[in-house]
Amino acid sequence: MSDTVRDLVIIGGGPAGLSAAIYASRSMLDAVTLEREASGGQMVLTGEIDNYPGLPGTDGYGLAEAMRAQAEGLGAHLEMDLVTSVGRDEASGLFSVSTSTGVYQAKCVIAALGARPRRAGFEGEEEFTGRGVSYCATCDGMFYRNKHVFVIGGGNSAAEEALFLARIASKVTIVVRRDHMRAQTALVRRLESDEKVEIRYQTSVVAVEGGRLPSSITLRDNATGTLKVENHEEGSFGIFVLVGREPETELLGNLVERDESGYVVTDDRMATRTPGLFVAGDARRKPLRQIVTAAADGAVAATSAAAYLGLPVEG
Ligand code: NAP
Repeated sequence: MSDTVRDLVIIGGGPAGLSAAIYASRSMLDAVTLEREASGGQMVLTGEIDNYPGLPGTDGYGLAEAMRAQAEGLGAHLEMDLVTSVGRDEASGLFSVSTSTGVYQAKCVIAALGARPRRAGFEGEEEFTGRGVSYCATCDGMFYRNKHVFVIGGGNSAAEEALFLARIASKVTIVVRRDHMRAQTALVRRLESDEKVEIRYQTSVVAVEGGRLPSSITLRDNATGTLKVENHEEGSFGIFVLVGREPETELLGNLVERDESGYVVTDDRMATRTPGLFVAGDARRKPLRQIVTAAADGAVAATSAAAYLGLPVEG
């Protein structure tokens, strides 16, 4: 760390950050990539990945490992460190990236911060998180072998994770607040034809109660407003909240502009309103949030950082 001024600090070790690290290494930038925990970001929470070109049926963990190994093989410097703030000195144009262990100085920053699970907002959600309420079927599904699980959400994540859970649980009840799911039709068809899966439309979970583990769930019929309390044996069921994600952008404070949903506005070079600060991956405003688009963003961001520094770029 010390007083060294690096060319680039990349924050985040998901596909956007790792791809940026690969491209930064190939452009010979003096860069460090800071990851809060093991590489891979949300990727590692994904069991099977079927839409990453060239690698059908790969798993998230394996893909993350391959990206990390490729980056390190090209000379990328990856550090596990928690970033606590990002600032920029107007006069020098240098960034200060503070972490739990010190401060990095850099001419450019690529923030590839990703997104975190959105909360559904029912009573008891926080209290039972980690003991009955989960945000990741791949991580926690095995705790619900032969149990009843409720999946909240109507998007692709809810649909895919419900199909995954149906292989483990005795029953999967999908709770969808509207009268239809917004997941791809093919996924909805698969759910409809799975005998373990029940879809309750126009329904919301309003409360989960219990002792150490949940023992009751209160559902609201959104068409009539009627509430129904379902009592179960304590610990016999779980709730998976899969209602989308929200961008992690707090670290960037006023350095960036955000859209009405909180995503960072960038141009097509991943540049933000702050010179030298680039944002790549799920935290930025974009039409499709996938591993492949995150990796593409990282490549563009690193190339833009090299151009900003006046270095020759790939392509
Ligand atoms: P999403 O597409 O934003 O869907 C979120 C779902 O949760 C919607 O059905 C939404 O209902 C519901 N919801 C939101 N807040 C809620 C609340 N407080 N209570 C109850 N329900 C709530 O999120 P996602 O499924 O996580 O997907 C995120 C992105 O990743 C999407 O672009 C998706 O296509 C993509 N993705 C793609 C794949 C794939 O291609 N295989 C797999 C997973 C995810 P409303 O419809 O009423 O808003």
